[in-house]
Amino acid sequence: MSKGKISDFLNSYIGINKRIKNTFIVLNKKKYFLNFFFLAVFFVLYILIVNQIKFYSKLKESNFNSFLESNEFNNIKEYIFENLNSPYREYTYSVENNDTIERVLKKYNIEKREINKIANEIVKKKLSNIYANTKIKIITKKVKGTNKIISLFYPIDAITSVEIKRNGDEFNIAKTVLKLKKREIVLSNIIKNNLYGSAVEAGIEPNIIIEFANIFGFEVDFQRDIRTGDKFEVYYEQYIDDDNVVRNTGKIIYASMFVNNKELALYNFKYDNKEGYYDVDGKSVIKTLMKTPINGARLSSSFGMRKHPILGYNKLHQGTDFAAPTGTPIMASGSGFILRAQKYKGYGNYVSIKHNSTYVTAYGHMSKYGRGIKKGVRVKQGRIIGYVGSTGMSTGPHLHYEVLKNGKRINSQRLKLPSGKILSNEARNKFEVDRIKIDVKLAELRGEK
Ligand SMILES: [Zn+2]
Repeated sequence: MSKGKISDFLNSYIGINKRIKNTFIVLNKKKYFLNFFFLAVFFVLYILIVNQIKFYSKLKESNFNSFLESNEFNNIKEYIFENLNSPYREYTYSVENNDTIERVLKKYNIEKREINKIANEIVKKKLSNIYANTKIKIITKKVKGTNKIISLFYPIDAITSVEIKRNGDEFNIAKTVLKLKKREIVLSNIIKNNLYGSAVEAGIEPNIIIEFANIFGFEVDFQRDIRTGDKFEVYYEQYIDDDNVVRNTGKIIYASMFVNNKELALYNFKYDNKEGYYDVDGKSVIKTLMKTPINGARLSSSFGMRKHPILGYNKLHQGTDFAAPTGTPIMASGSGFILRAQKYKGYGNYVSIKHNSTYVTAYGHMSKYGRGIKKGVRVKQGRIIGYVGSTGMSTGPHLHYEVLKNGKRINSQRLKLPSGKILSNEARNKFEVDRIKIDVKLAELRGEK
């Protein structure tokens, strides 16, 4: 309260006093003193009350400010806004390892019946696979304490998404496949440390790099042959979406490597429904592996379950046995390099050959090794790597022969590798035409005229 207001008050009080004075004309000193005493008490009380009011209003103000900044207020604000907003909620969930749609939905307080319904449907339609680090979009509606699903959207691979929408009490499930355009691209690089790193640097997708390594696997040993400064080039298909983002890759049409001072170029060629890679002379890149890497032998035990001749119990025989007299030469069933040439477990004297990134062959029970056969040596198909014997766990002279595909033993007698032949006649003519077309396109894509 301002000073002006206080003096107004005093004036009006004096005015009242004057009126009192006028009313009670007869005054004595005692009465006058009493009057003054009341005035003084009233004045003191007044000051006290005014201060008190001031103090309370200040306190209230500061309390309100701290209230605005408090969590309590934020909670209330959220509560108010939540009540003002619709019952619909939108969530984006980032998929973790081992998540399933069922498990994700459980996190959003969704009715069990709805979760089961959706989970059953997507499993039936084979749309239930979700992958870590992809995003699931969920829209829910709150109804009586639980959430109902309005829509659900998630990708199942690079180009396919699943969209689930509520339709009354049912759900419509739709698969959306991105419309992709195919384009062809040529990328090349000089190898610095290794093929993989240099290919990544050139912008080549990992699956194309792996395919590239597979194509050259019979020709190039990527650990030993590559020198700094070697080169490669790859011409392949990419699938792009409307934003020019590469969503998938197609096949390699042409690939070349400049290694050991030689250039090796390989062309994709399809004839008679068989597709493969061939060099400029029409020679297939895939060199077949021999089914019987030994001459004049008899197949004595095939791949499969059998009673083990020494151990006596039934055991999967993971190779093929060829009975032959001790000393019969054993050939490398394909070109490659020696992984191992030494005694190995029950195999006795043992040789294994790595042919490419996929195939390894192994030979056991040898009486001795071929001349010059030791770890790391490169061998050509047909080279003598050892001689039949009965070393290790063996009942008589025979060759135990194994073919390993990606580290897994397979039945060598059922091996279906393309013949590794040179294209001839009609196939060769078609190849020449296709090869020229590829060369023209390649020059175009490289920017040559
Ligand atoms: Zn065997």
